[in-house]
Amino acid sequence: MTTTNSRAERAAQARAAVVQLAAGGIDGVVFGWVDNAGLTRVKSVPLPQLEHAAEHGVGAVPCFDLALVDDSFTTTASSAGPMGDLRLVPDLDRLTPLAAQPGWAWAPADRYTQDGTPHPGCQRGFARRATEAVERRGLSVLAGIEIEWVVADAAGAPATSGPGYGMTRFVERSDYLREVLRALTAQGLTVLQLHPEYAAGQFEVSVAADGPVGAADTTMLVRHTVRAVSARHGLRVSFAPVFTEGAIGNGGHLHLSLWRQGRNLAHGGPGRHGLHPEAEHFLSGVLAELPALLALGAPGVASYLRLVPSHFAGAYRCWGLENREAALRLITGSGAGQANAEVKCFDAAANPYLAVGGVLAAGLAGLDAGMPLPPETRSDPAALASAERLPASLPEASDAFEKSAPRRRCRSARGSPGRR
Ligand code: GLU
Ligand code: MG
Repeated sequence: MTTTNSRAERAAQARAAVVQLAAGGIDGVVFGWVDNAGLTRVKSVPLPQLEHAAEHGVGAVPCFDLALVDDSFTTTASSAGPMGDLRLVPDLDRLTPLAAQPGWAWAPADRYTQDGTPHPGCQRGFARRATEAVERRGLSVLAGIEIEWVVADAAGAPATSGPGYGMTRFVERSDYLREVLRALTAQGLTVLQLHPEYAAGQFEVSVAADGPVGAADTTMLVRHTVRAVSARHGLRVSFAPVFTEGAIGNGGHLHLSLWRQGRNLAHGGPGRHGLHPEAEHFLSGVLAELPALLALGAPGVASYLRLVPSHFAGAYRCWGLENREAALRLITGSGAGQANAEVKCFDAAANPYLAVGGVLAAGLAGLDAGMPLPPETRSDPAALASAERLPASLPEASDAFEKSAPRRRCRSARGSPGRR
């Protein structure tokens, strides 16, 4: 079931969930969604209200569509200011007791208008529509977002010592990392890797891939969990694109693979490194739109402090097998199921639903146009005179976004009625 089920179905699902949650000592459920600035916003209900909330949603002010990263609000010609209301409807398929916040459960939420139609500005709805467009072509996508963060002490200094990837950091924060691992696992996530990253105080976790909407939900849950565990250990946490100016930043690399009838189209095909034609066209569409996609995947002013050469951030518009300076890194992995492409230029300021939905839209445009991939970049692009830098500032990325043809197509298709 999803929030697109009927009100009666959702109410029945909630009634069953309440019995289980009560037996597990849960007192309340927090509904999370991510705004256009990439911030997670929440509302919560006590357990006895869950059925009503699942059936009717809870009120959510639409002006959060205009919220900025500093909690101020912008305006647009169509904004209604203080007027109106939306309904935040929890997706109980992802209802999860929170291991690091005893007594609380979490569910990602979709936003609907008061008459029950999908809110056109719902970011999760956008990712779902993009996924459905992929599925209409008989294809599916597996996605996963790597999550990097920095922990700091009360004074704001990075809370590890020793070298990048160093054992010293692992020993210093052993109990903390164990609790992160345990909490994520207890919440039903499959952790693939957890390690100290390169920058001071930086760690990274990756979890198993999922469908595009599920992967974005998981990103929200992982970040929520890291935050909660960090708080329990007296640590401050930052997912900002850059924590220390000049240092390596926090990426939000998006991995994805395209599948048809159970076959990974990045493996065993006649193209370069085993790509099947559909995967090549899809990736060429993503590569073509990367300057525009940065407005979604690297949406902060500080994103461009991170997106610089020699930081493994993918500052160049090119692709290459295992090329960590290419914005689009191809990974063949250790078998058919492992091959995937990594969009490296995205960071942790992104709204994961917008980032993944935008990439799908760009990929589908490439697929429909039958676009080929340009020649591969087989070395560090920084040393190549022909290398093309991606936008070096947010205004440049926003300009590219304004001009993007796939963006215009999404805009004219948005708000198409969903089943409720
Ligand atoms: N932290 C780097 C970034 O800003 C990525 C390092 C890596 O390749 O995982 O994207
Ligand atoms: Mg990393």
